[in-house]
Amino acid sequence: MKYLLVLLVVGVGLFMLIGRNRGASRGNRRDPARPAPGPASMLECAHCGVHLPRDEAVLDAAGRGFCTDAHRIAGPR
Ligand SMILES: [Zn+2]
Repeated sequence: MKYLLVLLVVGVGLFMLIGRNRGASRGNRRDPARPAPGPASMLECAHCGVHLPRDEAVLDAAGRGFCTDAHRIAGPR
């Protein structure tokens, strides 16, 4: 019974160690060439003010961003 408890503790310790290593390697696997998505890639709709990713925005001739084509036609508020 004593050995079973020791085995259980060692097993749980190993499990936690493996889990921690797996999490660390997953964090390091990120591609450094790819830019991090952050506040810089977000854009505010000039009509309604909703925030959306820059690559999903609809831009008008002046370069202002809009969430939809309808808001681009409606113009900035
Ligand atoms: Zn909008």
